[in-house]
Amino acid sequence: MKSQQQYKPRFSFEFFPPKTDVGITKLKAVREEFAKLNPAFFSVTYGAGGSTRDRTFDTVTETKTSTGINTAPHLSCVGDTREQLRGLINQYKDNGINRIVTLRGDLPSGMGSSVGELQYASDLVSFIREETGDHFHLEVAAYPEMHPQAKSMDADLQAFKAKVDAGANSAITQYFYNIDAYKFFIDSCEKMGINIPIVVGVMPITNHDNLMRFSNMCGAEIPRWIRTRIESHATDLDYITKFGEEVVTNLCEQLLDLGAPGLHFYTLNQVEPSLSIWNNLGLSSK
Ligand code: FAD
Repeated sequence: MKSQQQYKPRFSFEFFPPKTDVGITKLKAVREEFAKLNPAFFSVTYGAGGSTRDRTFDTVTETKTSTGINTAPHLSCVGDTREQLRGLINQYKDNGINRIVTLRGDLPSGMGSSVGELQYASDLVSFIREETGDHFHLEVAAYPEMHPQAKSMDADLQAFKAKVDAGANSAITQYFYNIDAYKFFIDSCEKMGINIPIVVGVMPITNHDNLMRFSNMCGAEIPRWIRTRIESHATDLDYITKFGEEVVTNLCEQLLDLGAPGLHFYTLNQVEPSLSIWNNLGLSSK
């Protein structure tokens, strides 16, 4: 974990671009609450293939302007042409955006994953560097429990290294509830000479069905002791909220104590779950 301990922890919050007027109003209130915590940045997700191209752009620029907090778009390459990507990258640059969460993305099921002119996130990192030099701070995704489509953990580590070698500045992990997976991942990265900050992606636990569905899709393991408890209280939202808050607070506390260089909260545009964890960790006073 030595490579990570050199970095001052940083904190960030992720939103999705809302579709409806109600969602837009809600996000305004949500980001105002998180802005009070003075995070390093906000980020806004992107629908692979460009399904949220305009909404992501609008949400990023409005969020940055209204809160004064640096805001980063997510950008994926699958399903987009070089020309489309170039247009969007330059639009962000022209609007004062200086950070991008750089991804391959996942097209809706049945559409494959190799559509588009750039195949992997490492290709998108190289492309952004070729087009805009060092203008952007580039975040990439990291998978302590392995990306579900990777041939092996070693192959996935090589894929991660390719993103770093292409010019990524830092990484955010897929969420996980198993501290050893993160420790072993960091150790493997150190052995490969990778020492960019690898910030922990935090998914609060609030709802049994959503957690199971997301986790099946993205390959995050729910340890049996957590799964059995939330399964046996699947309809008791109060129980799941309290239990989830305690589990995720403990996880974050231990990871920060080990030297994790920060937390990135997958807020799902909700204040309470992430804010409770933040408050339990006493992060406002650190
Ligand atoms: P890559 O790093 O390209 O890896 C994808 C797969 O290809 C892996 O299995 C890897 O091992 C393999 N691979 C990579 N390079 C090679 C190579 N040269 N040869 C062979 N195999 C290779 N998705 C969205 O659609 N929108 C979002 O906004 C979004 N935000 C995210 C934010 C974070 C922090 C994280 C962790 C994930 C996010 N995702 C998002 C999900 C992400 O798009 C998916 O996990 C996707 O399947 C992989 O994206 P990647 O950037 O990790 O891809």
